Amino acid sequence: MADKPKKAPLPPPGLDTPVTFLKGCGPFLAQRLAVLGLTQVGDLLFHLPTRYEDRRQVVRLGDWLDGTEALFRGRITAAEMRLAPRRSLKLVVEDASGAAVLRMFQFHQQQQQALQRGRWVQGFGVGRVTRDGLSFAHPEWEVADTPDALVVPDTLTPIYPATQGLTQARLRSLIDAALALAAKTPGFLRAVPGLSAPDTLTALQALHRPAEAQAAEVLAQRAHPAQRRLIDEELLAHQISLRWVRQQLQRRPALVVADFAGAQQALLARLPFSLTGAQQRVLGDIAADLAQPRPMLRLVQGDVGSGKTLVAAAAMVAMVRAGFQAALMAPTELLAEQHLINFRQWLTPLGIEVRLLSGRLRKPERDATQAALLDGSVGVTIGTHALFQDSVRFLRLGLIVVDEQHRFGVQQRLSLRDKGPEGQATHQLIMSATPIPRTLAQSLYADLDISTIDELPPGRTPVKTVAIVNTRREDVLARIGEVCAAGRQAYWVCTLVEVSEQLSAQAAEETAALLREELPHLRVGLVHGRMKADDKDAQMRAFKDGRTQLLVATTVIEVGVDVPNASIMIIENPERLGLSQLHQLRGRVGRGAVESQCVLLYQAPLSESAQARLTALRNSNDGFVIAQTDLDLRGPGELLGRRQTGVVGMKIADPVRDAERIPPLQALADRLLDTQPAMARGLIRRWVGDFERYGEV
Ligand code: ADP
Ligand code: MG
Repeated sequence: MADKPKKAPLPPPGLDTPVTFLKGCGPFLAQRLAVLGLTQVGDLLFHLPTRYEDRRQVVRLGDWLDGTEALFRGRITAAEMRLAPRRSLKLVVEDASGAAVLRMFQFHQQQQQALQRGRWVQGFGVGRVTRDGLSFAHPEWEVADTPDALVVPDTLTPIYPATQGLTQARLRSLIDAALALAAKTPGFLRAVPGLSAPDTLTALQALHRPAEAQAAEVLAQRAHPAQRRLIDEELLAHQISLRWVRQQLQRRPALVVADFAGAQQALLARLPFSLTGAQQRVLGDIAADLAQPRPMLRLVQGDVGSGKTLVAAAAMVAMVRAGFQAALMAPTELLAEQHLINFRQWLTPLGIEVRLLSGRLRKPERDATQAALLDGSVGVTIGTHALFQDSVRFLRLGLIVVDEQHRFGVQQRLSLRDKGPEGQATHQLIMSATPIPRTLAQSLYADLDISTIDELPPGRTPVKTVAIVNTRREDVLARIGEVCAAGRQAYWVCTLVEVSEQLSAQAAEETAALLREELPHLRVGLVHGRMKADDKDAQMRAFKDGRTQLLVATTVIEVGVDVPNASIMIIENPERLGLSQLHQLRGRVGRGAVESQCVLLYQAPLSESAQARLTALRNSNDGFVIAQTDLDLRGPGELLGRRQTGVVGMKIADPVRDAERIPPLQALADRLLDTQPAMARGLIRRWVGDFERYGEV
């Protein structure tokens, strides 16, 4: 009899093996991990603890410092069940030095039975001194018959970002397995020249499994050599990826625009105002870029209202006059339509046709527009992401303008390259309304040249900003009533600490319901991130057209919507947001002729840093000053801000906080790209993701 055919041997497991390869990781768990973006074994390695808990020492109840978090242990001397107002269990626990009250809110019957008088509890939580003495609200706990059966951990306990259905313990064991696999992976152990010790693997081990004697403060302050190493490595990888993108984009030649000045003149001659000095300077930068036979890759940053759109328009006119097409991409339908109105006003008299291409066009209209782009009869197109679908083709696209850069990633820009004519690169102009100091901008946008509009057009009335404690809500409501009675409109912005859109949506809905009761004579609208794009748009439109008077919103309105009639903005719990984000929000008012107000409705008491942020906001209307203050205020340990930097997906570094580490890494990035391209690509893959497929090999 013939042998059974042998199965082909499986390739040895590596870090790019799916997580389900790991023992105990079935499809359900894999799905939970995917929520956190963890799909391959290697991803687990870089899922780093956000903080550590120190459970290495049992603290005596009698020595507890009010408000601190630690491990305690004691004997249960009383247990009392309550059903109202909420089902809860109250325990009294005693050790040799004192006693504490524990309140549990969620427990099964089994757990309740386990918590009997006479047994020993070990718990971890924040102890507060209250009327009842020292007390803990739903601490973590375990229970045993004797104290010896309760184990005190030897090391700091890492706490990972988790999600429903995924426990810390489970994450820890999966990460252990990933670390073991990494130790056997040769490529992983290769040193990165130019970075300081420890090597990547040792650093990861030190952070996932801290040494027994590890001081907690060192990790909390990110002063551990392992943290510094990984921060540097991640920043380096991002620098490499940005430079690599730039190289890729500049591989093809781009067309040259000879008569930029003439085109600019044609546009400006018809405007009722003249350019600011800053606008002129930036247009000079753009003209110089377009006079070269390689693609422009330029970021124009300027405060809200500094006149970036007009600068973009001048570049687009120049492009069309040189015989090519230009397209502008806005982040939302509404903004695209807003731009369409402005551009038609400016460009139609010059004989340039402007079209809208948005996701909401009907098929016949859409087909007609697409045909016009392809036959070259349309010079300027305004659109949303729909503009850059594969099906949309241009005859001679020469320039792409991307408005509000922070919503648009490097990888997407890479994919725009193929929109131009065969073999020719498209010029790219990126507009950002989040101005940041120059050196930082050069680090964050290492793939772009940077121009800055640091001057507002004359004659603007600055927004008046006041901070009011939320116990004076009545006064604020009265003020909204007055503003609306005078025919103007108001924003009410809800903020939430949680990253969850669901919770912020819920908070916004509740706030809107409450405001409808409190201000029954007003028409109140609502937008939040969980709404369908169409509904969101409908709400914004209703507000823009004046059909609603008060718009309750989450921070989704941050991006450049223009409702000049809105003259007051209330920001609830502004202490939860970073300075730059608050400034962005505030930029939604003060766009019309009347003086506008921004009311920061805070919850007392304010932390020192929150107080500093609100003060800075009251004292300045200048985005650059705000950005610098923001930077100065963010010391180590300031939790805010990770999400505001606009660079999504950083694992351990924060380019704002860690800005001063970047310049030497830029030189290293160039060196590696030149001399060790394989290592450079490995670092991109490890830290940034797999986007080389956009590149040409
Ligand atoms: P942003 O930089 O926020 O995109 P916009 O380009 O929308 O700013 O400009 C805000 C407003 O200022 C627009 O109404 C625009 O027409 C006007 N504007 C632009 N440049 C000037 C200028 N030099 N003088 C006066 N008004 C200007
Ligand atoms: Mg704008």
